Amino acid sequence: MSYGEADRPGISINPRLIIAAVIALFGIVTYFARTQVNPVTGEKQHIAMSVDQEKALGLEAAPKMAAEMGGDITPGRDPRAALVQEVGRRLVENTEAGKSPYADNFHFHLLNDPNTINAFALPGGQIFITKALFDKLDDEAELAGVLGHEIGHVIHRHSAQQMAKGQLGQILSTAVGVGTSDRNDGGQSAAMAAQMANQMIQLRYGRGDESQSDSYGLRLMNQVGYDPRAMLDVMKILKDASKGDRQPEWLSSHPLPETRIQQIEDELNREYGGGSKGSIGRGRTLSGNDYR
Ligand SMILES: [Zn+2]
Repeated sequence: MSYGEADRPGISINPRLIIAAVIALFGIVTYFARTQVNPVTGEKQHIAMSVDQEKALGLEAAPKMAAEMGGDITPGRDPRAALVQEVGRRLVENTEAGKSPYADNFHFHLLNDPNTINAFALPGGQIFITKALFDKLDDEAELAGVLGHEIGHVIHRHSAQQMAKGQLGQILSTAVGVGTSDRNDGGQSAAMAAQMANQMIQLRYGRGDESQSDSYGLRLMNQVGYDPRAMLDVMKILKDASKGDRQPEWLSSHPLPETRIQQIEDELNREYGGGSKGSIGRGRTLSGNDYR
């Protein structure tokens, strides 16, 4: 007596679901297998590339990013670009950032975009601030706050971490797509849900990353001698700018809930006696001179 396919009673599992489960499992296993210990912070992270790969990727992407945002202003052409470079370098030399494997690879760019209020970091040490954001800042210490925060993203390898998560998200979306593609109406909404989940993964981690980078920026400012209170003023400037008709793009990549401002305030009081004068203090004023 033989038990052929047709005779076997019971559950029939849709092969698509099995394939979907295998794809999802593969993504999850790969993601969690790629664990690295951060060379600076000692934190365990899910990252799929080496420090050298991060540097190479950042260097390759930098000119493309610059071209999309008005282009790089060379320090010889504009004293503001020279100041961005000077303050950036100061935050790396003689601080803990200078002891990181990224120390020799930091580059600080001023971008010729007068409308987009933004600053960002590419993996490996490429750091950018737009003219629109620069021109909103009152003094050197505030510039140090912006650049110190972005240095924090590089040291904590946030972009590399986001990329690994993005890959996981994509694999999981594919899995959902495969698993639901034979349903008449469910497929589309399931794919949308997967996409939303992907965004939520990135957003949730993004907020933690922001606080981590704020703390790191405060530490560098303090180590160099800038008044770390200036970081709070940067947040206030961005918050005020968001009341106008042009939302600062910095806020979409750097969520700024009240809690983040509160965290900076708490940290200033707890670690820095409410904000120290430091040897540089607020540094040079940026309005009414070469810089404006
Ligand atoms: Zn940030």
